[in-house]
Amino acid sequence: KGARLRLPPWLKTEIPIGKNFNKLKNTLRDLNLHTVCEEARCPNIGECWGGGEYNTATATIMLMGDTCTRGCRFCSVKTARRPPPLDPNEPYNTAKAIAAWGLDYVVLTSVDRDDISDGGAEHFAKTVSNLKERDSRILVECLTPDFRGDLAAVEKIALSGLDVYAHNVETVRELQRFVRDPRANIDQSLSVLRHAKKVNPSVLTKTSIMLGLGETDQQIHNTMTELREAEVDCLTLGQYMQPTKRHLKVDEYVTPEKFAHWEKVGNEMGFVYTASGPLVRSSYKAGEFFLKNLLK
Ligand code: SF4
Ligand code: SF4
Repeated sequence: KGARLRLPPWLKTEIPIGKNFNKLKNTLRDLNLHTVCEEARCPNIGECWGGGEYNTATATIMLMGDTCTRGCRFCSVKTARRPPPLDPNEPYNTAKAIAAWGLDYVVLTSVDRDDISDGGAEHFAKTVSNLKERDSRILVECLTPDFRGDLAAVEKIALSGLDVYAHNVETVRELQRFVRDPRANIDQSLSVLRHAKKVNPSVLTKTSIMLGLGETDQQIHNTMTELREAEVDCLTLGQYMQPTKRHLKVDEYVTPEKFAHWEKVGNEMGFVYTASGPLVRSSYKAGEFFLKNLLK
């Protein structure tokens, strides 16, 4: 497969802008917060920040710098063996800025920091506890690395006071080695998700799979079954998009109908919710989905 595929029409549509969007956009300037939404120029920003029918504005904040110790073949984040050290004031300052910003649901995520002994787990946990102290109403999701399978690190975050523990398996079992950094694998990722649920059963666990990397329907189905077996509560499925020419090519643009099919399968399998669509990302309208499904 040499030539690159053309972008299908469903990936070119304009996305509506919800009513909180301008307010959040204008107040962000003075806060020195790094949102993945803006920095990755995510197409969903109008919807996520807008808040939707449940009026729950969602944004994703990156902790622990912009340089990762790993290099996954789908990801355009900068890589280095020794990124700059953590900013010890970040948990406090970030929590303060998020609380002042006026979000309803925040996703805290990070690069992988295999150079730090606990992978940054303490740093994550402190950010959550500082934030919840300032604003107990805000819903907090942590989208974490796998901590090389260090379950004590997972536990620190699972018990930090968060609402949702997310960790992405990224792709089906069969494509892990081809897509993710060699230090990642699906069994390690499943053990992270299983452990978070075990130490804190009231937390929701969540994961994400990218489609369009060459996986088969059977492989998707099997991976979803494995996720349910690991008691994962929420699943998102979205289209893989090639960030630069040096990254993995898109094998297929999965149709909106096919995404709807996987959403139905997910619901039948018993996930609390399955969000599935071409533009769905792991944090896509996370606040809206959370409220819609937990308040029903
Ligand atoms: Fe990107 Fe995460 Fe992989 Fe690092 S570990 S390269 S941030 S996907
Ligand atoms: Fe931000 Fe995630 Fe929504 Fe994109 S999908 S706008 S990164 S919260």
